[in-house]
Amino acid sequence: MFDAVVVGARCAGAATALLLARQGHRVLIVDQAHFPSDVRLSTHLVWHAGVDLLDRWGLLPTLQASGCPLLTDFALDMGGLVLQGQPPGTRVGAAMAPRRVVLDQVLLDAAVAAGAELREGVTFEDVLREQESAEGRVCGIRGRLQDGQPVQFEARVVVGADGTHSPLARAVGARELVRHGKDEGSYNVYAYFSGLPVDAVEFHSRPERMAYAWHTHHGQTLVGMILPGRSPRVPLAEVEAMFMGELATHAPSLAERVRNAQRESDWTAASVGSHCREATGAGWALVGDAGVTVDPITAAGITLALRDAELLSGLLHEGLRHEGLLGQRTLDAALADFGPQRDVVSRPLHQFAQDMAQLQVPPPEMVNVFMALAGNQAQIDRYFGVFGQTVTPAEFFDPTNLQAILSGAAAASADPV
Ligand SMILES: Cc1cc2nc3c(=O)[nH]c(=O)nc-3n(C[C@H](O)[C@H](O)[C@H](O)COP(=O)(O)OP(=O)(O)OC[C@H]3O[C@@H](n4cnc5c(N)ncnc54)[C@H](O)[C@@H]3O)c2cc1C
Repeated sequence: MFDAVVVGARCAGAATALLLARQGHRVLIVDQAHFPSDVRLSTHLVWHAGVDLLDRWGLLPTLQASGCPLLTDFALDMGGLVLQGQPPGTRVGAAMAPRRVVLDQVLLDAAVAAGAELREGVTFEDVLREQESAEGRVCGIRGRLQDGQPVQFEARVVVGADGTHSPLARAVGARELVRHGKDEGSYNVYAYFSGLPVDAVEFHSRPERMAYAWHTHHGQTLVGMILPGRSPRVPLAEVEAMFMGELATHAPSLAERVRNAQRESDWTAASVGSHCREATGAGWALVGDAGVTVDPITAAGITLALRDAELLSGLLHEGLRHEGLLGQRTLDAALADFGPQRDVVSRPLHQFAQDMAQLQVPPPEMVNVFMALAGNQAQIDRYFGVFGQTVTPAEFFDPTNLQAILSGAAAASADPV
């Protein structure tokens, strides 16, 4: 009997297992993959709040030693206006973009070092329930090894960290609270380049387009273009021509540097749906993309997964610790707290990404706010903080804050020269 079985061993699952194991719980982590293992659909950006967590967990030196730079400067080119700044209120003062084959492995190694047991090549098939009925409390999982042998593991709680299509969410019947199809989100095209200098994490925001570039491992730069999800798909052989044409039109300075650089990977082109699912039930919880999948346009998923792993493991620790004394109710009470606490942060960021993914020209009142940001460094930094996850969308877009930005501009323009 384990305290917890975690299905899925990447950023959400490995982090949850790590934090539970460090608190003395007996944790099993299973994944159908064998590690080290890469993720093709990722642009790797871990924002400031996520880097701060990795630092607090003692993993930042290992990540830096792997050849992944800290990203300290940010530039958002909105056409007539370029905002440069950094999210406020951070511990490390940087984001980073580690390749997933590295990030997931660093987390997993730390989980195993903390005492979590890892079983690779185990495909989850269904949950075990206390009573053999769909309503029975979840008390473990059953699955299959690669040679077809069935396996099962019992646990006080089962955590689904098995990604956006989460077979575990399906098995427990987790309800979808919000869902957006691929066409309602963004369509992302990217590749890796060497010999491509960027001074900052660059975003070039245009109507219906967002170009971006940032450094990842070993001097390589990830360069991408985001289009609306409803855009016609381009055959793979034509992706490069399409990409370079779009980049030349919308971000000519970046296009020039890309033309002089060396492409080091195939092109990836992808769109994904997004959702928020019910977070917990009797004996189970979902963390990471399994619970909340955010449109990739804000690159928020990994940072959210790390934050939710910390929140969930903290609550589970309380529940598991008291279980022997007070009975099962305490674990359930701890589980029940996870969803509402998760959603205070996750739901607004999910909506923020969904809104951004429309890639529409902001309404005139927001254009005025952005224009008024010019020269107001503290508020520019707060806007970057919404992406860095150190300022909530509610804090930045609060009418009082927007009014303060606008009146700051009015005051500045009234100042005698
Ligand atoms: C194009 C694109 C770009 C992105 N770019 C960024 C970015 O720059 N920054 C960012 O923060 N986020 C980004 N994201 C989102 C990010 O990739 C996810 O939020 C993140 O991977 C979620 O991690 P996770 O651990 O929850 O799930 P995953 O990384 O999906 O891991 C799930 C694990 O579960 C395992 N699993 C699944 N089914 C089973 C089963 N039946 N049995 C056993 N194991 C199973 C899988 O093998 C896998 O290892 C991007 C997403 C896309 C699509």
